[in-house]
Amino acid sequence: MHATTSQGRTFSRGDPGFDEAVLGTSFNARDPGRRPEVVVQANDVFDVVAAVKRAGATGMKVGLCSGGHSWAQNHIRNGGMMIDLSRLNHISVDEASRTATVGPGALGGDVDAAVQRHGLFFPVAHAYTVGIGGFLLQGGFGWNSRAVGLACESVVGIDVVLADGRLVHASETENADLLWAARGSGPGFFGVVVRFHLRLHKRPRFVGLKIQVFRMKHLEDVFRWADRVGPSVSPKVEFQMVFNRKAMGISAPGIEVVAPVLADSRKEAVEALSFLKKNEVSKKASFSTPVIPMSLGRMMKTGEKTLFLKNTRWFADNMWMDQPIEPLIPNLRRIADTQPPHPSHILWLNWNPTTPRTDMAFSVEDRTYLALYAGLRTREDEERYRTWATDEMQRMQAFSTGIQLADENLGNRPAKFLSDANMQRLNAVRAAYDPTGVFHPWMDR
Ligand SMILES: Cc1cc2nc3c(=O)[nH]c(=O)nc-3n(C[C@H](O)[C@H](O)[C@H](O)COP(=O)(O)OP(=O)(O)OC[C@H]3O[C@@H](n4cnc5c(N)ncnc54)[C@H](O)[C@@H]3O)c2cc1C
Repeated sequence: MHATTSQGRTFSRGDPGFDEAVLGTSFNARDPGRRPEVVVQANDVFDVVAAVKRAGATGMKVGLCSGGHSWAQNHIRNGGMMIDLSRLNHISVDEASRTATVGPGALGGDVDAAVQRHGLFFPVAHAYTVGIGGFLLQGGFGWNSRAVGLACESVVGIDVVLADGRLVHASETENADLLWAARGSGPGFFGVVVRFHLRLHKRPRFVGLKIQVFRMKHLEDVFRWADRVGPSVSPKVEFQMVFNRKAMGISAPGIEVVAPVLADSRKEAVEALSFLKKNEVSKKASFSTPVIPMSLGRMMKTGEKTLFLKNTRWFADNMWMDQPIEPLIPNLRRIADTQPPHPSHILWLNWNPTTPRTDMAFSVEDRTYLALYAGLRTREDEERYRTWATDEMQRMQAFSTGIQLADENLGNRPAKFLSDANMQRLNAVRAAYDPTGVFHPWMDR
């Protein structure tokens, strides 16, 4: 999906172009079968205010779409109104105060390019076309997030159209409970964020990555090693492993250790990645690259070209884990053996939150993260694998301490994504700001 530039219109069910206005928002090529009654393609904040007032007056529930990258297509709901915010995609950077204001429809990659011009950094999502709106609201595991925190922790303010059509600002000193809720409630947020105010960071001077690829027969050894070294890996490194049936360089089922690094010098990067060089499994790698300098923009675009293919019907699910590795290993072996064809993949991520978190709705995370992405391109594969991610996460439920909303699958498998105390508080804030339930909550409700 590219940044939306055409003038927005309003479509009702049955109008020519209605289906395209609904499904064209979605990164996922799946048709979820759901349809709103009306789609409003907002051009500006005034359109949003008018749309929310109209929905309130006519009893329509409101669903929202910024970049349309929800794997579960949470942005396409049954009945009511969809407000497409992709045209609210302005980006403005103030270098002196190290802040930016961005519209919810801005693409993560465009935000990165804009702040880079000022030598600054924001932890946007790993794929170029992810919308900043949905990404920031669900928490935001972005580039360098182990070092600079979740992306939502760098949101210092939001401008929100509330259920009654009022436009308000929220920060840590004004409507603070609204900002608290916006940092982590994701697709359960109860207002339209029309502008995010971001705190920017110093840009790491060296960005690059190192890759190692192992054949699947080494899975057990690789995971025992990864589990052992993970806690001591520098927060500047994103230590992740991807199971791929067409693994890089070997075009056969394998485990790709992909380790991007954001550091202040090449020397520092090489040092941070040295755990990949001399260890008990490195000699089993089919191949290993040196530390390759690469811009974030290029990494984001390459990821989308190789893994996140367009015209693919995606079914995703995930879980956080903090378990001993041994009982987990047979499960990892099973998901590796049963995983659907490329571009389907499995992500294991070393997370180890290292810094204390901001007080915010986001409250469930753990030492490692596992996400399954079935990316299906033929009807036969869809028939066979459409429930694979859900079924496998269900089978591994005992290892899970909760899920991340980024890859949520709540419509098929309800799971815990906030602490009980935060869910209780969030429900109270929601009841105060959206007492009649104008906005759709998460799909499991
Ligand atoms: C290829 C790909 C790569 C990804 N990489 C990452 C990653 O690196 N890190 C990560 O954390 N996540 C990642 N994600 C997950 C992504 O962050 C979430 O799916 C996020 O919701 C996408 O935001 P969006 O605006 O594009 O989605 P949308 O589908 O438009 O929005 C999702 C939901 O968020 C809510 N919402 C969106 N905009 C607003 C708004 N302005 N006001 C109020 N509510 C709103 C709505 O309920 C909506 O249904 C990735 C997803 C994909 C498809």
